[in-house]
Amino acid sequence: MQVVVAKRLLQANDQIAEMNRKRFDAAWVAAINLLGSPGAGKTSLIEALVPELAAKMRLAVVEGDLATTRDADRVAQLGLPTVQINTSGACHLDAGMVASALDSLTLDGLDLLIIENVGNLVCPSSYRLGEHFRTVVLSVPEGDDKVAKYPTMFQRVDSLVINKLDLLPHVRFDLERVRADVKVVAPTVASFALSAATGEGIAEYTAWLEQRCEQIREGKG
Ligand code: MG
Ligand code: ZN
Repeated sequence: MQVVVAKRLLQANDQIAEMNRKRFDAAWVAAINLLGSPGAGKTSLIEALVPELAAKMRLAVVEGDLATTRDADRVAQLGLPTVQINTSGACHLDAGMVASALDSLTLDGLDLLIIENVGNLVCPSSYRLGEHFRTVVLSVPEGDDKVAKYPTMFQRVDSLVINKLDLLPHVRFDLERVRADVKVVAPTVASFALSAATGEGIAEYTAWLEQRCEQIREGKG
Protein backbone atom coordinates (compact mmCIF):
# COMPACT_ATOMS: atom_id res chain seq x y z
CA MET A 1 0.00 0.00 0.00
CA GLN A 2 2.76 2.43 1.00
CA VAL A 3 4.56 1.71 -2.24
CA VAL A 4 1.47 2.53 -4.30
CA VAL A 5 1.00 5.84 -2.47
CA ALA A 6 4.65 6.78 -3.01
CA LYS A 7 4.38 5.93 -6.69
CA ARG A 8 1.24 8.04 -7.12
CA LEU A 9 2.91 10.98 -5.36
CA LEU A 10 5.89 10.75 -7.68
CA GLN A 11 3.61 10.63 -10.73
CA ALA A 12 1.80 13.77 -9.54
CA ASN A 13 5.18 15.41 -8.98
CA ASP A 14 6.32 14.49 -12.48
CA GLN A 15 3.24 16.14 -14.00
CA ILE A 16 4.03 19.43 -12.24
CA ALA A 17 7.69 19.05 -13.20
CA GLU A 18 6.57 18.76 -16.82
CA MET A 19 4.69 22.06 -16.49
CA ASN A 20 7.75 23.72 -14.92
CA ARG A 21 9.82 22.48 -17.84
CA LYS A 22 7.35 24.03 -20.28
CA ARG A 23 7.67 27.36 -18.47
CA PHE A 24 11.48 27.19 -18.70
CA ASP A 25 11.36 26.27 -22.38
CA ALA A 26 8.83 28.98 -23.23
CA ALA A 27 11.21 31.55 -21.70
CA TRP A 28 14.32 29.92 -23.22
CA VAL A 29 15.83 29.43 -19.78
CA ALA A 30 18.08 26.51 -18.91
CA ALA A 31 17.48 25.15 -15.40
CA ILE A 32 19.93 23.22 -13.24
CA ASN A 33 19.12 21.25 -10.09
CA LEU A 34 22.07 21.53 -7.70
CA LEU A 35 22.24 18.65 -5.21
CA GLY A 36 24.50 17.46 -2.41
CA SER A 37 24.88 16.94 1.33
CA PRO A 38 24.54 19.74 3.87
CA GLY A 39 27.87 21.56 3.91
CA ALA A 40 29.10 20.18 0.59
CA GLY A 41 29.42 23.74 -0.68
CA LYS A 42 26.44 24.16 -3.02
CA THR A 43 25.95 27.83 -2.10
CA SER A 44 29.71 28.42 -2.16
CA LEU A 45 29.83 26.93 -5.65
CA ILE A 46 27.13 29.37 -6.77
CA GLU A 47 29.15 32.21 -5.24
CA ALA A 48 32.25 31.06 -7.11
CA LEU A 49 30.39 30.69 -10.41
CA VAL A 50 28.75 34.08 -10.48
CA PRO A 51 31.86 36.16 -11.27
CA GLU A 52 32.63 33.72 -14.12
CA LEU A 53 29.12 33.53 -15.55
CA ALA A 54 27.49 36.88 -14.81
CA ALA A 55 29.27 38.64 -17.68
CA LYS A 56 28.09 36.03 -20.18
CA MET A 57 24.61 35.11 -19.03
CA ARG A 58 21.76 36.32 -16.89
CA LEU A 59 21.25 34.19 -13.81
CA ALA A 60 18.66 33.72 -11.10
CA VAL A 61 18.63 31.38 -8.12
CA VAL A 62 15.96 29.42 -6.28
CA GLU A 63 17.16 28.45 -2.82
CA GLY A 64 15.63 25.47 -1.06
CA ASP A 65 16.13 25.24 2.68
CA LEU A 66 14.47 23.61 5.69
CA ALA A 67 14.60 26.85 7.65
CA THR A 68 16.33 30.26 7.56
CA THR A 69 17.09 32.46 4.57
CA ARG A 70 20.85 32.35 5.14
CA ASP A 71 21.78 30.88 1.76
CA ALA A 72 19.25 33.05 -0.07
CA ASP A 73 20.71 36.11 1.68
CA ARG A 74 24.22 35.14 0.52
CA VAL A 75 23.04 34.72 -3.07
CA ALA A 76 20.97 37.93 -3.05
CA GLN A 77 24.13 39.78 -1.97
CA LEU A 78 25.65 38.79 -5.31
CA GLY A 79 22.97 40.90 -6.98
CA LEU A 80 21.05 37.97 -8.45
CA PRO A 81 17.27 37.63 -8.44
CA THR A 82 16.71 35.09 -5.65
CA VAL A 83 13.64 33.26 -4.44
CA GLN A 84 13.67 31.33 -1.20
CA ILE A 85 11.66 28.14 -0.76
CA ASN A 86 11.19 27.33 2.89
CA THR A 87 10.33 23.64 3.00
CA SER A 88 9.22 23.77 6.67
CA GLY A 89 11.34 20.76 7.50
CA ALA A 90 10.80 18.75 4.29
CA CYS A 91 14.04 17.06 3.26
CA HIS A 92 13.82 17.74 -0.49
CA LEU A 93 12.33 20.14 -3.01
CA ASP A 94 9.39 18.97 -5.10
CA ALA A 95 8.04 20.31 -8.37
CA GLY A 96 5.09 22.06 -6.70
CA MET A 97 7.44 24.09 -4.46
CA VAL A 98 9.44 25.15 -7.51
CA ALA A 99 6.23 26.05 -9.38
CA SER A 100 5.31 28.41 -6.52
CA ALA A 101 8.79 29.95 -6.58
CA LEU A 102 8.48 30.53 -10.34
CA ASP A 103 5.38 32.62 -9.71
CA SER A 104 7.55 35.25 -8.04
CA LEU A 105 10.35 35.17 -10.59
CA THR A 106 10.53 36.73 -14.05
CA LEU A 107 11.91 34.04 -16.32
CA ASP A 108 11.90 36.13 -19.49
CA GLY A 109 15.36 37.51 -20.13
CA LEU A 110 17.14 34.88 -18.01
CA ASP A 111 19.62 32.40 -19.44
CA LEU A 112 20.16 30.07 -16.49
CA LEU A 113 18.14 29.31 -13.38
CA ILE A 114 20.06 27.59 -10.60
CA ILE A 115 17.88 25.62 -8.19
CA GLU A 116 19.79 24.77 -5.01
CA ASN A 117 18.12 21.78 -3.44
CA VAL A 118 17.90 20.92 0.26
CA GLY A 119 21.14 19.39 1.56
CA ASN A 120 20.56 15.65 1.34
CA LEU A 121 22.25 12.85 -0.60
CA VAL A 122 19.21 10.57 -0.70
CA CYS A 123 15.63 11.55 -1.60
CA PRO A 124 16.06 14.82 -3.59
CA SER A 125 17.24 12.70 -6.52
CA SER A 126 13.76 11.09 -6.76
CA TYR A 127 11.95 14.36 -7.36
CA ARG A 128 12.09 15.93 -10.78
CA LEU A 129 11.66 19.68 -10.64
CA GLY A 130 11.47 20.32 -14.39
CA GLU A 131 15.20 20.99 -14.61
CA HIS A 132 17.19 20.28 -17.78
CA PHE A 133 20.20 18.90 -15.97
CA ARG A 134 21.64 18.12 -12.55
CA THR A 135 24.93 18.51 -10.73
CA VAL A 136 25.74 16.86 -7.41
CA VAL A 137 28.38 18.44 -5.17
CA LEU A 138 30.49 16.10 -3.03
CA SER A 139 33.10 17.64 -0.75
CA VAL A 140 36.42 16.20 0.35
CA PRO A 141 35.60 16.18 4.12
CA GLU A 142 32.54 13.97 3.48
CA GLY A 143 34.82 11.05 2.66
CA ASP A 144 35.74 9.15 -0.48
CA ASP A 145 33.19 6.36 0.02
CA LYS A 146 30.05 8.34 -0.78
CA VAL A 147 29.74 7.46 -4.48
CA ALA A 148 29.79 3.77 -3.66
CA LYS A 149 27.47 4.14 -0.64
CA TYR A 150 24.86 6.42 -2.25
CA PRO A 151 24.98 5.23 -5.87
CA THR A 152 21.42 6.30 -6.77
CA MET A 153 22.18 9.98 -6.37
CA PHE A 154 25.25 9.77 -8.61
CA GLN A 155 23.37 7.75 -11.23
CA ARG A 156 20.67 10.42 -11.51
CA VAL A 157 22.90 13.42 -12.24
CA ASP A 158 24.70 14.74 -15.31
CA SER A 159 27.79 15.92 -13.52
CA LEU A 160 29.69 15.55 -10.27
CA VAL A 161 31.63 18.36 -8.64
CA ILE A 162 34.18 17.26 -6.07
CA ASN A 163 34.54 20.39 -3.95
CA LYS A 164 36.98 21.62 -1.28
CA LEU A 165 40.02 20.33 -3.13
CA ASP A 166 42.06 22.75 -0.99
CA LEU A 167 41.41 20.46 2.01
CA LEU A 168 42.99 17.39 0.37
CA PRO A 169 46.29 17.72 2.30
CA HIS A 170 44.40 17.71 5.61
CA VAL A 171 41.81 14.98 5.10
CA ARG A 172 41.99 11.32 4.18
CA PHE A 173 40.33 11.35 0.77
CA ASP A 174 41.49 9.32 -2.22
CA LEU A 175 40.48 11.23 -5.35
CA GLU A 176 41.40 8.30 -7.58
CA ARG A 177 39.21 5.97 -5.53
CA VAL A 178 36.24 8.29 -6.08
CA ARG A 179 36.95 8.49 -9.80
CA ALA A 180 37.17 4.69 -9.97
CA ASP A 181 33.81 4.38 -8.17
CA VAL A 182 32.23 6.89 -10.57
CA LYS A 183 33.48 4.82 -13.50
CA VAL A 184 31.69 1.76 -12.11
CA VAL A 185 28.54 3.34 -10.66
CA ALA A 186 27.85 6.21 -13.08
CA PRO A 187 30.21 6.01 -16.06
CA THR A 188 28.45 8.69 -18.14
CA VAL A 189 28.63 11.37 -15.44
CA ALA A 190 31.03 14.24 -16.17
CA SER A 191 33.24 14.77 -13.15
CA PHE A 192 35.08 17.88 -11.99
CA ALA A 193 37.38 18.52 -9.05
CA LEU A 194 37.58 22.07 -7.77
CA SER A 195 37.73 24.41 -4.83
CA ALA A 196 34.98 26.99 -4.58
CA ALA A 197 37.11 28.67 -1.89
CA THR A 198 40.30 29.13 -3.94
CA GLY A 199 38.80 29.08 -7.44
CA GLU A 200 40.97 26.16 -8.55
CA GLY A 201 39.17 24.14 -11.23
CA ILE A 202 36.17 26.50 -11.43
CA ALA A 203 36.91 27.38 -15.08
CA GLU A 204 36.51 23.78 -16.26
CA TYR A 205 33.14 23.36 -14.60
CA THR A 206 32.00 26.77 -15.85
CA ALA A 207 32.89 25.74 -19.41
CA TRP A 208 30.81 22.58 -19.02
CA LEU A 209 27.86 24.59 -17.68
CA GLU A 210 28.03 27.04 -20.57
CA GLN A 211 28.17 24.19 -23.05
CA ARG A 212 25.11 22.52 -21.50
CA CYS A 213 23.18 25.80 -21.60
CA GLU A 214 24.13 26.22 -25.25
CA GLN A 215 22.93 22.69 -26.09
CA ILE A 216 19.62 23.29 -24.33
CA ARG A 217 19.04 26.50 -26.23
CA GLU A 218 19.92 24.82 -29.54
CA GLY A 219 17.52 22.01 -28.71
CA LYS A 220 14.73 24.54 -28.42
CA GLY A 221 15.73 26.48 -31.52
MG1 MG B 1 23.46 25.97 0.68
ZN1 ZN C 1 13.17 14.07 1.21
